[in-house]
Amino acid sequence: METNPTSSTPPIRIVATRRRRRTVSARLRAGVLELLVPDWMSQAERERWAVEMRGRIERRMRRSKPSDQRLADRARTLNERHFGGRLRWTSIGFDDMSHRWGSCTFTTGAIRIARKAATLPEWVLDYLLVHELAHLEQSDHGAAFHELENRYPLTERARGYLMAMDRLEAPAEAPF
Ligand SMILES: [Zn+2]
Repeated sequence: METNPTSSTPPIRIVATRRRRRTVSARLRAGVLELLVPDWMSQAERERWAVEMRGRIERRMRRSKPSDQRLADRARTLNERHFGGRLRWTSIGFDDMSHRWGSCTFTTGAIRIARKAATLPEWVLDYLLVHELAHLEQSDHGAAFHELENRYPLTERARGYLMAMDRLEAPAEAPF
């Protein structure tokens, strides 16, 4: 089953900032695409940018891979359970990654989970999803991010599990 990706294009909010900026930047926050523009920019120019950025995102979303239904269903459940259902993403699926367990592209809301994670226990896979979901609101790993991530009660255990897995996969770094 595929969802129509363009149906979930995030709404756009234009935020004028007094900080000196030459360019327009965008971030996805709580499902809304915030367009940061310098406050000297005219209204017409801001609107032109909003149309331009929406176009870019829609093109990028059309190119992105369809969501994996199993991950999409789990993510929806976790979003309801731990985030009050407020998070919005555009696509979610497994992908080939060798050095990472997952990724979240902040500006497009695309979540990818390493294909090797498909065989992890359900509660560890749930943790990976919660981690990437939390990145929809916080792009870094700061205190606010950990507050979001720790809403999942098995976060500590899952992190330990994954660290142990990473050590098994990298025998050169084993302590013996
Ligand atoms: Zn992360």
